[in-house]
Amino acid sequence: MTAPVDTRHPLQIMDGLLQLKVPIPNNPLGWVLPYLIEGRDGWTLVDSGWNVPEAADALEQQLNDAGVGYGRLKTLLVTHIHPDHYGLAGVVKQRSGARIIIHQRERDMIRSRYKNPEQLLATMGDWLVMHGVPRAQVQDLQTSAMPVRGYVDAVQPDEVVWGGERLDIGRFLFEVLWTPGHSPGHICFLERDERFILTGDHVLPTITPNVSLHPQQQGNPLGDYIASLERLEGLDVRTVLPAHEYTFDDLHGRLRGIEHHHDERLQEMLDVMGGRPRTAYEVAKGVKWATGSFDSFSFWMQRAAIGETLAHLEYMVIEDRLQKFLEDGVQYYAPPDGDRA
Ligand SMILES: [Zn+2]
Ligand SMILES: [Zn+2]
Repeated sequence: MTAPVDTRHPLQIMDGLLQLKVPIPNNPLGWVLPYLIEGRDGWTLVDSGWNVPEAADALEQQLNDAGVGYGRLKTLLVTHIHPDHYGLAGVVKQRSGARIIIHQRERDMIRSRYKNPEQLLATMGDWLVMHGVPRAQVQDLQTSAMPVRGYVDAVQPDEVVWGGERLDIGRFLFEVLWTPGHSPGHICFLERDERFILTGDHVLPTITPNVSLHPQQQGNPLGDYIASLERLEGLDVRTVLPAHEYTFDDLHGRLRGIEHHHDERLQEMLDVMGGRPRTAYEVAKGVKWATGSFDSFSFWMQRAAIGETLAHLEYMVIEDRLQKFLEDGVQYYAPPDGDRA
């Protein structure tokens, strides 16, 4: 799988389907790839970009270049509410009047994440302490996502989906696939006859999406994510249209690659624990990260690394490979009693 040479956008993927490319300034992801689908009486956009002028201008320019503009945009589908996908939703709504459609589980997080974050901030502080972050560092990590809120013009959806719906758009018939894990209400759009799928952040050609525990994402997100990968097993798809990086074709090879990555990650965490009780913070500091050492990360990245570590630890608790216990308000993960070194 090699990255294609840079192409001009909007890029026609097939008749009635265009790929856009919207920059994400000063971010290693580089860009988001929204899609534009021709309907019978207007166009549908899938995802948007950060709410910053550079992204808003690129989006508008490419809508115009496609001959669609805001005037002919009727619907905005949002794969999930991360700022790079949902950030410009309010702008799109205001300029086009488009109907916004989001999964129910994402809709439920909009208010607490983007509108009234005070409660979430307080919960986040307690949560970081519980997972072993030294008190002196809690405040930096706690508020680290606040600047990102500025990249979102939050707007409530006009309609929610649950997964399983069929969306009849022009010559296409899309099936909404609920694929929780990267975000609780992440959705993909499958076109069975044309054999392509819009995967959002669920499956990307080389990046493995962040799968994290978070005060707003409890339970077993890694288990959800792996189950969501399995949902795509066996699909007869020849083109994967992701929301970052580039178009690719080997969906099943990529699914196996991502599953293998998480298996290795689980083992690495067990190795770092060395048979002793550890907090998520300690494990996060001990494992290798593709993008550098934990201590070199920004506060926001450190928090994401702790959340990602926790998703793996909780997964192993549910699989009976670890147990957890609280001591003085701090949560530790440890091998099951019999295996304690
Ligand atoms: Zn995302
Ligand atoms: Zn993304």
